[in-house]
Amino acid sequence: MKLNATSEMIPITWPEFAHVHPFAPRDQLQGYAELDAQLRAWLCQATGYAGISLQPNAGSQGEYAGLLAIRAWHESRGQAHRNVCLIPSSAHGTNPASAQMAGMQVVVTACDDNGNVDMADLKAKCEQHSAKLSCIMITYPSTHGVFEMKVKELCALVHQHGGRVYVDGANMNALVGVAAPGEFGGDVSHLNLHKTFCIPHGGGGPGVGPVCVVEDLVPFLPGHKAGGLPEHPVGAVSAAPLGNAAVLPISWMYCRMMGAEGLTQATEVAILSANYISARLREHYPTLYASENGHVAHECILDLRPLKDSSGVTAEDVAKRLMDYGFHAPTLSFPVPGTLMVEPTESETLEEIDRFIAAMIAIREEIRRVERGEWPQDDNPLKHAPHTAATLLKGEWTHAYPREVGAAVLDERRHAKYWPPIGRVDNVYGDRNLFCSCVPMSAYEE
Ligand SMILES: *Cc1c(COP(=O)(O)O)cnc(C)c1O
Repeated sequence: MKLNATSEMIPITWPEFAHVHPFAPRDQLQGYAELDAQLRAWLCQATGYAGISLQPNAGSQGEYAGLLAIRAWHESRGQAHRNVCLIPSSAHGTNPASAQMAGMQVVVTACDDNGNVDMADLKAKCEQHSAKLSCIMITYPSTHGVFEMKVKELCALVHQHGGRVYVDGANMNALVGVAAPGEFGGDVSHLNLHKTFCIPHGGGGPGVGPVCVVEDLVPFLPGHKAGGLPEHPVGAVSAAPLGNAAVLPISWMYCRMMGAEGLTQATEVAILSANYISARLREHYPTLYASENGHVAHECILDLRPLKDSSGVTAEDVAKRLMDYGFHAPTLSFPVPGTLMVEPTESETLEEIDRFIAAMIAIREEIRRVERGEWPQDDNPLKHAPHTAATLLKGEWTHAYPREVGAAVLDERRHAKYWPPIGRVDNVYGDRNLFCSCVPMSAYEE
């Protein structure tokens, strides 16, 4: 998770930003107009695109807006029949969902063993659907956390067949200042300001998913009748002309305070941190996907699947055990079931990253004790994690491992132990046992 700095957050509390109605007369929105223009200019610079709209309220909405632009562009040239959207199997689930919503036919292309787009399969699919090809949606660096070496070749191939290239920009934290999708072959991208540009997005929002396009697609960006934006084929994708405008000051502050140099450094540090974690954990948890030079992009997928056979321990057990060591678990079982995907970003200090690595290695040592048979597969500190103070302090201790081990206190952290407030619940029970809690009116009396 990126740092959401206080100084970035303060301006959204100012009444000048917080209390403005989205449909206020335009002469009362001059501050927002300036912020919109500046932020768009900076984001164009960072992505290499010619035009951008801040209207979409999420990355997925940016995808939708971008695909509408591609569709409208084909229509404008008398090619409305082009509706096939190629999507590699490694894609984020929102990609095919957006393509379907934009009325396109999704054709899935394969990935090779290293998690990269399978170029031979892509070539075959391009040829097979050439006459109807609308676009491809790729993510760069990929959802597997790898910079695909053949991305330029891939873009050129799709262009040859008359299609456009949508580059999902959700992983821009690995690109800003270093490479621009608008320059290596992308025609359209969305950004996630709530990922790369510091808007906090815990609990599902609010997001901003700007859609960015190359020159000839600029006329097909979203418009809005009430926003003073030009009327054109695509129309609005959000109720308000400037979407989730109230949180834009956060990204504005981030760009303004970092400057071009700072943003580039953030990218470099994010990539360095992910590679550092991947390298230091290699002998304990192998990284599933890497590029030919052995490096990852801004995140690494730690493969925990083999541990199931050797010890009965699952990725979920490790995620729960991390709580005992004072960590919120990284992304669990996405995009590959049974793995942990670690994205440290540039925001974590080396000390914090080392603390995480130490915890992961300590957990691996615990797993080795299960592998050696010192602890039973069903009674070890991983299976009973997280340990609350209440379970550790209760009178009789019946587990195969000592209480101190359950508490998972690394020596140098004795003064700062985090106590999980609650133990493990059966994750899927609620999903599989639907029940209605229609509380009778009498329960509300008094
Ligand atoms: C997060 C993400 C999205 C969707 O963004 P939302 O803002 O959650 O709608 C799309 N693609 C990728 C690769 C993502 O990581």
